[in-house]
Amino acid sequence: MRTDEQALIFELSREGRIGHSLPELDIDPVDEQELLPSKYRRQEPAELPQVSELQLVRHYTALSRRNHGVDSGFYPLGSCTMKYNPKINEDVARYPGFAHLHPYQPESQLQGALELMYELQQSLEAVTGMDQVTLQPAAGAHGEWTGLMLIRAFHEANGDYGRTKVIVPDSAHGTNPASAVVAGFDAVTVRSNDEGLVDLEHLRELAGEDTAALMLTNPNTLGLFERDIVEMASIIHEAGGKLYYDGANSNAILGMTRPGDMGFDVVHLNLHKTFTTPHGGGGPGSGPVGVKQDLVPYLPAPIVAKDGESYRFAWEFPDSIGRVKPYYGNFGINVRAYTYIRTMGPEGLRQVSRQAVLNANYMLRRLQPYFDTPYEQHCKHEFVLSGKRQKKLGVRTLDIAKRLLDFGYHPPTIYFPINVEECLMIEPTETESKETLDEFCDAMIQIAKEAETNPEIVQEAPHTTVVSRLDETQAARKPVLRWEAKEEATV
Ligand SMILES: *Cc1c(COP(=O)(O)O)cnc(C)c1O
Repeated sequence: MRTDEQALIFELSREGRIGHSLPELDIDPVDEQELLPSKYRRQEPAELPQVSELQLVRHYTALSRRNHGVDSGFYPLGSCTMKYNPKINEDVARYPGFAHLHPYQPESQLQGALELMYELQQSLEAVTGMDQVTLQPAAGAHGEWTGLMLIRAFHEANGDYGRTKVIVPDSAHGTNPASAVVAGFDAVTVRSNDEGLVDLEHLRELAGEDTAALMLTNPNTLGLFERDIVEMASIIHEAGGKLYYDGANSNAILGMTRPGDMGFDVVHLNLHKTFTTPHGGGGPGSGPVGVKQDLVPYLPAPIVAKDGESYRFAWEFPDSIGRVKPYYGNFGINVRAYTYIRTMGPEGLRQVSRQAVLNANYMLRRLQPYFDTPYEQHCKHEFVLSGKRQKKLGVRTLDIAKRLLDFGYHPPTIYFPINVEECLMIEPTETESKETLDEFCDAMIQIAKEAETNPEIVQEAPHTTVVSRLDETQAARKPVLRWEAKEEATV
C-alpha cells in the first residue's frame, strides 16, 4: 500500500475533486470562440490531476523533503561551490524598489538600480584586478563564450586572423573546451605533470602564432595552485595570445591574489557559486566578465557608467561584439551578490578564502590514510581523492557516492577531473562547521572500512532513500517511466 507521501499526484486524482475556489464571476463571460478559434483549441480536456488543496500542499511539501539542497544538508560538490545562500540576500532582492522595476523605465527612475550595478561592477573589478566588468552574461559558460568572443574581436581588429587555437589544460572544466569551440576556435589540450600542474614544456611547444588564448583557472580544477603562473603568462603573451581566467569558483583567492595580477586579460566569475546566489536546477545564474584595458572597446554594450552624481547606461562601444543578453544581466541575482559583498566587506571576503582553504586541507588530511591522494601538496578550496584502493576491493567511486546518500549527504563530484582514476572531488566551502566536516569524514572513513569488510553494503547502496539505485541514463532520458508503466498496466 502506498501512502500519500509516495504516490504520484496523478495516482491521488479522483474525478471531480477540486482544490481551488474562485470568486464568482462579476463581469460578462467572454465568447470563447471569439477569443480563440476552435482549430487552435485542444480537442480533449487536458489530463490534469484532480486533488484537494490539502493533498496538493502535502504533495509539494513531500517533494521538497526529498530534495537535497544546501539549506537541508552538506553538499560538497567539488568545482561547483555549493555554499550557503544568506537569507538577507533574498530579502533585499525582494525589495519592491528592485523587484518591481521594469527594464524600459527611463534612467532617471532607475538611479538606485544603476548605482547598485555600477558598484557591483567596481567591486568585481577590485576582486579580480580587471579594468572593466560587464554584468550581462547569464552564467559561467556564457561568460566564457563572451570572453573568448572579446579575445577574438581583439585579434581580428589587429588583422590577426591566424589565431585559431585556444589552449586548455587536461584538468579543465568541460565548459572550457566547449566554449572555445562555440566561439569558433579549436581547443588544444595541454598536459598536466605528475604534480597536477600545467606541464610548462608542453605549453611552450603549443604556444605560437596560432595561439588565440590560454584558458585556465588558478587554483586549477584539482584544487592546486599553479605556482608558475607568471611564467605561463609570459609564454602566452610573448606568443601574442591572451590569458583567460575561469573564475567560476574563486573561493580560494578572494582578497588573497587576483587574476589581473597573475597576468590574466579576461576573467569570468560565477556569482551563483562564489558570491552566494542560489544555483542548481538550472539557474538563473550570473557570469560577469572582467577585462583589461585593451579589450574594453569590444565589451557588450551597455555597461553602467557614472557621470558626476548620476548613473547611466553607456552605449558608446563602436567595436562592441554586441549584446549577449536582453536587458542588463540577471538583475535579481546581481542584487543578491551585491548584498553579499556589502555584508562581508573586503576583510570578510578574505576570511572566506582563508576558511575555505583551511576546511579543505583539514578534510584532505583526515581522509588521506583511507583513500589514495594523487597530489601531496596543500590544496586550496577543494581537493581530489582517488578510489583506486577501493576499486581493487570491488567498490567503485560511484558506489561510494551512492553510499553517502545513506548518511544524508549529497555526494561530491565524481569521475572529474578525468585525469584522476576513480576521482572524488570534494569542496567543503567556508560556511560549514568543524562538526559537519568531521561527521562527513567519519562517514567516508566508515565507507572505506565497509569496502574492506562488507563491500556489498556499499555496492548495493543506497538503502535509506525513497528509490534505490536508478539506471541513471534511463532516469535522465525517461523521467516519467513509472507513470507510463502504470498507464500501460491499467489499459
Ligand atoms: C560551474 C563551472 C563553470 C560553468 O558555469 P555555469 O554557470 O554552470 O555555466 C565553468 N567553469 C568552472 C570551473 C565551473 O566550476
